[in-house]
Amino acid sequence: MQSIYNFSAGPSMIPKDVLCQARKELQNWKDSGSSIMEISHRSKEFIQVALEAENDLRDLLNIPDSYKVLFCQGGARGQFSAIPMNLLGNVKTADYINSGYWSNCAFIEAKKYCNPKSIVISKKINNTISLLPICQWHINKNAAYIHYCPNETIDGLSIYEEPIFKNKIIIGDFSSYILSRPINIENFDLIYAGAQKNIGPAGITIVIIRDNLLEYSSTKTPSILDYKNISEHHSMFNTPPTFSWYLSGLVFKWLKKQGGLKEIEKLNQKKSDLLYQKINTSDFYINNVDIKHRSQMNVVFHLVKSELNEIFLKEASELGLTALKGHRIVGGMRASIYNAMPLEGVISLVKFMSYFENRYG
Ligand SMILES: *Cc1c(COP(=O)(O)O)cnc(C)c1O
Repeated sequence: MQSIYNFSAGPSMIPKDVLCQARKELQNWKDSGSSIMEISHRSKEFIQVALEAENDLRDLLNIPDSYKVLFCQGGARGQFSAIPMNLLGNVKTADYINSGYWSNCAFIEAKKYCNPKSIVISKKINNTISLLPICQWHINKNAAYIHYCPNETIDGLSIYEEPIFKNKIIIGDFSSYILSRPINIENFDLIYAGAQKNIGPAGITIVIIRDNLLEYSSTKTPSILDYKNISEHHSMFNTPPTFSWYLSGLVFKWLKKQGGLKEIEKLNQKKSDLLYQKINTSDFYINNVDIKHRSQMNVVFHLVKSELNEIFLKEASELGLTALKGHRIVGGMRASIYNAMPLEGVISLVKFMSYFENRYG
Protein backbone atom coordinates (compact mmCIF):
# COMPACT_ATOMS: atom_id res chain seq x y z
CA MET A 1 0.00 0.00 0.00
CA GLN A 2 1.12 3.54 -0.81
CA SER A 3 1.81 5.52 2.38
CA ILE A 4 -1.06 7.80 3.27
CA TYR A 5 -0.50 11.12 4.96
CA ASN A 6 -3.77 12.18 6.48
CA PHE A 7 -4.04 15.92 7.14
CA SER A 8 -7.42 15.71 8.85
CA ALA A 9 -8.10 18.32 11.54
CA GLY A 10 -9.81 15.84 13.84
CA PRO A 11 -10.22 12.99 14.31
CA SER A 12 -6.72 12.92 12.96
CA MET A 13 -3.62 10.78 12.55
CA ILE A 14 -2.45 8.57 15.35
CA PRO A 15 1.22 7.49 15.40
CA LYS A 16 1.71 4.35 13.33
CA ASP A 17 3.71 2.63 16.10
CA VAL A 18 0.77 3.13 18.45
CA LEU A 19 -1.71 1.68 15.97
CA CYS A 20 0.57 -1.31 15.42
CA GLN A 21 0.81 -1.98 19.13
CA ALA A 22 -2.95 -1.64 19.54
CA ARG A 23 -3.51 -4.03 16.67
CA LYS A 24 -1.10 -6.55 18.14
CA GLU A 25 -2.89 -6.61 21.46
CA LEU A 26 -6.41 -5.99 20.23
CA GLN A 27 -7.86 -9.44 20.73
CA ASN A 28 -5.70 -10.59 23.56
CA TRP A 29 -4.61 -7.77 25.77
CA LYS A 30 -1.73 -8.72 28.09
CA ASP A 31 -2.62 -12.40 27.90
CA SER A 32 -6.01 -11.78 29.44
CA GLY A 33 -7.72 -13.52 26.53
CA SER A 34 -9.86 -10.41 26.10
CA SER A 35 -9.59 -7.09 24.38
CA ILE A 36 -9.00 -4.02 26.53
CA MET A 37 -12.47 -2.95 25.36
CA GLU A 38 -14.02 -5.97 27.02
CA ILE A 39 -12.69 -5.69 30.55
CA SER A 40 -14.16 -3.79 33.48
CA HIS A 41 -13.02 -0.24 34.03
CA ARG A 42 -12.91 -1.18 37.70
CA SER A 43 -10.57 -4.13 37.21
CA LYS A 44 -7.12 -3.67 38.64
CA GLU A 45 -5.68 -4.17 35.17
CA PHE A 46 -7.60 -1.26 33.69
CA ILE A 47 -6.98 0.95 36.70
CA GLN A 48 -3.29 0.38 36.14
CA VAL A 49 -3.66 1.53 32.51
CA ALA A 50 -5.60 4.59 33.63
CA LEU A 51 -3.02 5.54 36.26
CA GLU A 52 -0.10 5.08 33.91
CA ALA A 53 -1.78 7.31 31.35
CA GLU A 54 -2.25 10.00 33.96
CA ASN A 55 1.32 9.71 35.23
CA ASP A 56 2.79 9.81 31.75
CA LEU A 57 0.73 12.89 30.92
CA ARG A 58 1.90 14.48 34.18
CA ASP A 59 5.52 13.79 33.22
CA LEU A 60 5.10 15.14 29.71
CA LEU A 61 3.44 18.38 30.76
CA ASN A 62 5.24 18.66 34.07
CA ILE A 63 1.95 18.97 35.96
CA PRO A 64 2.38 19.90 39.63
CA ASP A 65 0.66 17.87 42.36
CA SER A 66 -1.66 20.78 43.08
CA TYR A 67 -3.49 20.03 39.83
CA LYS A 68 -5.97 17.25 39.16
CA VAL A 69 -6.05 15.49 35.83
CA LEU A 70 -9.58 14.45 34.87
CA PHE A 71 -10.53 12.15 32.02
CA CYS A 72 -13.94 13.43 31.02
CA GLN A 73 -16.50 12.87 28.28
CA GLY A 74 -18.57 15.15 26.11
CA GLY A 75 -15.68 16.60 24.11
CA ALA A 76 -14.42 20.14 24.25
CA ARG A 77 -17.96 21.32 23.68
CA GLY A 78 -18.99 19.54 26.85
CA GLN A 79 -16.44 21.73 28.61
CA PHE A 80 -18.00 24.85 27.09
CA SER A 81 -20.94 24.05 29.41
CA ALA A 82 -19.03 22.46 32.29
CA ILE A 83 -16.80 25.49 32.79
CA PRO A 84 -19.51 28.05 33.57
CA MET A 85 -21.48 25.52 35.61
CA ASN A 86 -18.46 24.64 37.70
CA LEU A 87 -16.66 27.93 37.96
CA LEU A 88 -19.01 30.88 37.96
CA GLY A 89 -19.94 30.48 41.61
CA ASN A 90 -22.05 33.53 42.46
CA VAL A 91 -20.45 35.70 39.80
CA LYS A 92 -22.63 36.63 36.85
CA THR A 93 -20.05 37.30 34.20
CA ALA A 94 -16.89 35.92 32.64
CA ASP A 95 -14.49 37.11 29.96
CA TYR A 96 -14.30 35.23 26.69
CA ILE A 97 -11.37 36.20 24.53
CA ASN A 98 -12.62 35.92 20.98
CA SER A 99 -9.91 34.96 18.49
CA GLY A 100 -11.87 32.85 16.05
CA TYR A 101 -14.43 30.14 15.56
CA TRP A 102 -13.98 27.93 18.62
CA SER A 103 -13.45 30.63 21.21
CA ASN A 104 -16.66 32.21 19.93
CA CYS A 105 -18.52 28.91 20.31
CA ALA A 106 -17.41 28.75 23.95
CA PHE A 107 -18.74 32.28 24.46
CA ILE A 108 -22.11 31.44 22.89
CA GLU A 109 -22.55 28.43 25.16
CA ALA A 110 -21.61 30.46 28.24
CA LYS A 111 -24.54 32.80 27.55
CA LYS A 112 -26.82 30.08 28.84
CA TYR A 113 -25.33 30.45 32.29
CA CYS A 114 -24.27 34.05 32.69
CA ASN A 115 -23.76 37.33 30.98
CA PRO A 116 -20.32 36.72 29.48
CA LYS A 117 -18.29 39.40 27.78
CA SER A 118 -16.79 38.70 24.38
CA ILE A 119 -13.44 40.41 23.98
CA VAL A 120 -12.60 40.41 20.30
CA ILE A 121 -8.85 40.41 19.77
CA SER A 122 -8.59 39.69 16.06
CA LYS A 123 -8.33 42.41 13.49
CA LYS A 124 -7.83 42.45 9.78
CA ILE A 125 -5.35 44.95 8.43
CA ASN A 126 -4.59 44.95 4.69
CA ASN A 127 -6.10 41.53 4.38
CA THR A 128 -3.87 40.12 7.12
CA ILE A 129 -5.46 38.76 10.27
CA SER A 130 -3.67 39.65 13.45
CA LEU A 131 -4.34 39.32 17.17
CA LEU A 132 -3.89 41.82 19.94
CA PRO A 133 -1.01 40.97 22.29
CA ILE A 134 -2.09 39.83 25.73
CA CYS A 135 -1.05 43.11 27.35
CA GLN A 136 -3.77 44.80 25.27
CA TRP A 137 -6.62 42.50 26.25
CA HIS A 138 -9.22 44.56 28.08
CA ILE A 139 -10.13 42.37 30.98
CA ASN A 140 -13.25 43.05 32.95
CA LYS A 141 -12.53 43.25 36.64
CA ASN A 142 -15.69 41.43 37.73
CA ALA A 143 -15.17 38.42 35.51
CA ALA A 144 -15.25 35.04 37.26
CA TYR A 145 -12.59 33.82 34.86
CA ILE A 146 -10.91 34.48 31.52
CA HIS A 147 -11.41 31.91 28.79
CA TYR A 148 -9.28 31.79 25.66
CA CYS A 149 -8.19 29.41 22.93
CA PRO A 150 -4.44 29.24 22.13
CA ASN A 151 -4.98 27.50 18.81
CA GLU A 152 -7.96 28.20 16.60
CA THR A 153 -8.13 24.95 14.68
CA ILE A 154 -10.34 26.30 11.91
CA ASP A 155 -8.80 29.75 11.45
CA GLY A 156 -5.20 28.53 11.71
CA LEU A 157 -4.37 31.14 14.37
CA SER A 158 -2.26 30.66 17.49
CA ILE A 159 -1.46 32.61 20.61
CA TYR A 160 1.99 31.48 21.75
CA GLU A 161 2.29 33.90 24.65
CA GLU A 162 0.86 32.54 27.91
CA PRO A 163 -1.63 34.88 29.60
CA ILE A 164 -0.68 36.21 33.00
CA PHE A 165 -3.21 38.29 34.88
CA LYS A 166 -2.85 38.72 38.60
CA ASN A 167 -5.58 37.06 40.66
CA LYS A 168 -7.52 35.94 37.64
CA ILE A 169 -8.61 32.45 36.80
CA ILE A 170 -7.23 31.57 33.36
CA ILE A 171 -8.88 28.84 31.33
CA GLY A 172 -7.64 27.56 27.98
CA ASP A 173 -9.23 25.43 25.29
CA PHE A 174 -6.12 23.48 24.33
CA SER A 175 -7.88 20.98 22.05
CA SER A 176 -5.52 21.46 19.13
CA TYR A 177 -2.51 22.82 21.04
CA ILE A 178 -1.97 20.42 23.92
CA LEU A 179 1.27 18.40 23.78
CA SER A 180 2.54 20.26 20.72
CA ARG A 181 5.19 22.04 22.85
CA PRO A 182 6.03 22.50 26.52
CA ILE A 183 3.82 24.89 28.47
CA ASN A 184 3.95 26.23 31.99
CA ILE A 185 0.88 24.68 33.61
CA GLU A 186 1.17 27.07 36.52
CA ASN A 187 0.18 29.94 34.25
CA PHE A 188 -3.23 28.33 33.96
CA ASP A 189 -5.99 27.33 36.31
CA LEU A 190 -7.74 24.99 33.95
CA ILE A 191 -6.88 23.67 30.54
CA TYR A 192 -8.87 21.17 28.57
CA ALA A 193 -8.61 19.29 25.31
CA GLY A 194 -10.65 16.77 23.38
CA ALA A 195 -8.44 13.80 22.50
CA GLN A 196 -9.16 13.57 18.79
CA LYS A 197 -6.76 16.30 17.63
CA ASN A 198 -3.40 15.77 19.20
CA ILE A 199 -3.88 12.83 21.56
CA GLY A 200 -5.84 9.80 20.44
CA PRO A 201 -9.28 8.63 19.40
CA ALA A 202 -12.36 10.77 20.04
CA GLY A 203 -14.27 10.03 23.21
CA ILE A 204 -12.09 11.32 25.99
CA THR A 205 -11.50 14.90 27.07
CA ILE A 206 -8.60 15.83 29.30
CA VAL A 207 -9.16 18.47 31.97
CA ILE A 208 -6.21 19.70 34.03
CA ILE A 209 -7.49 21.79 36.90
CA ARG A 210 -5.94 23.53 39.87
CA ASP A 211 -7.38 21.66 42.84
CA ASN A 212 -8.67 24.72 44.69
CA LEU A 213 -11.20 25.18 41.87
CA LEU A 214 -13.09 22.01 42.63
CA GLU A 215 -15.32 23.68 45.17
CA TYR A 216 -17.30 26.25 43.20
CA SER A 217 -19.66 24.02 41.28
CA SER A 218 -23.34 24.97 41.15
CA THR A 219 -25.65 22.42 42.80
CA LYS A 220 -27.46 22.10 39.47
CA THR A 221 -24.33 20.90 37.67
CA PRO A 222 -25.01 17.46 36.17
CA SER A 223 -22.94 14.95 38.13
CA ILE A 224 -21.05 13.77 35.06
CA LEU A 225 -19.84 17.33 34.41
CA ASP A 226 -19.09 18.21 38.03
CA TYR A 227 -15.33 18.46 38.43
CA LYS A 228 -15.38 17.68 42.12
CA ASN A 229 -17.51 14.63 41.58
CA ILE A 230 -15.38 13.44 38.67
CA SER A 231 -12.24 13.94 40.71
CA GLU A 232 -13.60 12.12 43.76
CA HIS A 233 -14.46 9.18 41.53
CA HIS A 234 -11.06 9.20 39.80
CA SER A 235 -12.80 9.94 36.49
CA MET A 236 -14.88 6.78 36.84
CA PHE A 237 -18.16 8.14 38.13
CA ASN A 238 -19.70 6.61 35.04
CA THR A 239 -18.09 4.20 32.62
CA PRO A 240 -15.25 6.06 30.92
CA PRO A 241 -14.38 5.52 27.22
CA THR A 242 -11.86 2.85 28.14
CA PHE A 243 -10.46 2.25 24.66
CA SER A 244 -9.82 5.94 24.10
CA TRP A 245 -8.17 6.19 27.52
CA TYR A 246 -5.94 3.19 26.80
CA LEU A 247 -4.95 4.44 23.36
CA SER A 248 -4.25 7.93 24.64
CA GLY A 249 -1.97 6.27 27.19
CA LEU A 250 -0.05 4.56 24.39
CA VAL A 251 0.33 7.93 22.67
CA PHE A 252 1.75 9.44 25.88
CA LYS A 253 4.33 6.65 26.04
CA TRP A 254 5.15 7.22 22.37
CA LEU A 255 5.67 10.93 23.04
CA LYS A 256 8.04 10.16 25.89
CA LYS A 257 9.96 7.85 23.59
CA GLN A 258 10.31 10.67 21.05
CA GLY A 259 12.12 12.64 23.75
CA GLY A 260 9.16 14.49 25.26
CA LEU A 261 7.70 17.84 24.36
CA LYS A 262 10.96 19.71 23.82
CA GLU A 263 11.85 17.35 20.99
CA ILE A 264 8.29 17.34 19.67
CA GLU A 265 8.31 21.12 19.60
CA LYS A 266 11.47 21.15 17.48
CA LEU A 267 9.92 18.76 15.02
CA ASN A 268 6.66 20.71 14.90
CA GLN A 269 8.63 23.88 14.25
CA LYS A 270 10.48 22.22 11.41
CA LYS A 271 7.30 20.86 9.87
CA SER A 272 5.37 24.11 9.99
CA ASP A 273 8.41 26.13 8.80
CA LEU A 274 8.64 23.96 5.70
CA LEU A 275 5.02 24.55 4.81
CA TYR A 276 4.93 28.26 5.56
CA GLN A 277 8.17 28.73 3.64
CA LYS A 278 6.55 27.14 0.64
CA ILE A 279 3.57 29.47 0.98
CA ASN A 280 5.70 32.57 1.61
CA THR A 281 7.84 32.06 -1.45
CA SER A 282 4.94 31.56 -3.82
CA ASP A 283 2.37 33.83 -5.43
CA PHE A 284 0.22 30.84 -6.10
CA TYR A 285 -0.55 29.96 -2.45
CA ILE A 286 -1.68 32.43 0.19
CA ASN A 287 -1.97 32.44 3.96
CA ASN A 288 -3.31 35.66 5.42
CA VAL A 289 -2.43 35.21 9.08
CA ASP A 290 0.11 37.50 10.72
CA ILE A 291 3.40 35.58 10.91
CA LYS A 292 3.51 35.82 14.73
CA HIS A 293 0.16 34.08 15.01
CA ARG A 294 0.39 31.37 12.42
CA SER A 295 -0.61 28.01 13.78
CA GLN A 296 1.98 25.27 13.85
CA MET A 297 -0.75 22.66 14.02
CA ASN A 298 -3.27 23.82 11.41
CA VAL A 299 -1.75 25.44 8.38
CA VAL A 300 -4.50 27.11 6.34
CA PHE A 301 -3.86 28.34 2.84
CA HIS A 302 -5.72 28.99 -0.34
CA LEU A 303 -4.97 29.00 -4.01
CA VAL A 304 -5.06 32.36 -5.72
CA LYS A 305 -6.86 30.56 -8.54
CA SER A 306 -9.66 29.17 -6.41
CA GLU A 307 -11.15 27.39 -9.44
CA LEU A 308 -8.25 24.94 -9.01
CA ASN A 309 -9.27 23.91 -5.48
CA GLU A 310 -11.06 20.75 -6.49
CA ILE A 311 -8.27 19.63 -8.79
CA PHE A 312 -5.71 20.31 -6.07
CA LEU A 313 -7.60 18.18 -3.59
CA LYS A 314 -8.20 15.39 -6.06
CA GLU A 315 -4.61 15.14 -7.27
CA ALA A 316 -3.23 15.39 -3.73
CA SER A 317 -5.50 12.64 -2.58
CA GLU A 318 -4.47 10.39 -5.48
CA LEU A 319 -0.91 10.73 -4.20
CA GLY A 320 -1.94 9.75 -0.68
CA LEU A 321 -2.14 13.30 0.73
CA THR A 322 -5.64 13.24 2.12
CA ALA A 323 -8.12 15.43 3.98
CA LEU A 324 -6.62 18.75 2.90
CA LYS A 325 -9.94 20.47 2.35
CA GLY A 326 -10.35 23.58 4.50
CA HIS A 327 -13.24 23.93 6.92
CA ARG A 328 -16.41 24.94 5.11
CA ILE A 329 -16.57 28.32 6.82
CA VAL A 330 -13.04 29.28 5.75
CA GLY A 331 -12.74 27.41 2.45
CA GLY A 332 -9.41 26.75 0.73
CA MET A 333 -7.05 24.20 2.22
CA ARG A 334 -5.99 23.21 5.68
CA ALA A 335 -3.07 20.94 6.49
CA SER A 336 -3.36 19.76 10.06
CA ILE A 337 0.07 18.59 11.09
CA TYR A 338 -0.26 17.40 14.65
CA ASN A 339 2.39 15.41 16.48
CA ALA A 340 1.55 12.18 14.67
CA MET A 341 2.22 13.66 11.23
CA PRO A 342 5.75 12.61 10.29
CA LEU A 343 8.18 15.06 8.72
CA GLU A 344 8.03 12.96 5.52
CA GLY A 345 4.32 13.76 5.22
CA VAL A 346 5.01 17.48 5.20
CA ILE A 347 7.91 17.06 2.76
CA SER A 348 5.60 15.16 0.42
CA LEU A 349 2.96 17.87 0.66
CA VAL A 350 5.48 20.63 -0.08
CA LYS A 351 6.78 18.69 -3.08
CA PHE A 352 3.28 18.24 -4.35
CA MET A 353 2.55 21.95 -3.89
CA SER A 354 5.62 22.83 -5.96
CA TYR A 355 4.67 20.39 -8.67
CA PHE A 356 1.09 21.67 -8.74
CA GLU A 357 2.21 25.27 -8.95
CA ASN A 358 4.58 24.49 -11.85
CA ARG A 359 1.87 22.66 -13.68
CA TYR A 360 -1.04 25.07 -13.18
CA GLY A 361 0.57 28.32 -12.06
C1 LIG B 1 -12.31 20.45 17.74
C2 LIG B 1 -12.35 21.56 18.69
C3 LIG B 1 -13.43 21.75 19.57
C4 LIG B 1 -14.64 20.85 19.57
O1 LIG B 1 -14.30 19.61 20.07
P1 LIG B 1 -15.39 18.47 20.36
O2 LIG B 1 -14.57 17.46 21.05
O3 LIG B 1 -15.94 18.05 19.03
O4 LIG B 1 -16.45 19.05 21.22
C5 LIG B 1 -13.37 22.80 20.46
N1 LIG B 1 -12.31 23.63 20.50
C6 LIG B 1 -11.26 23.48 19.67
C7 LIG B 1 -10.12 24.44 19.77
C8 LIG B 1 -11.25 22.45 18.75
O5 LIG B 1 -10.20 22.29 17.93
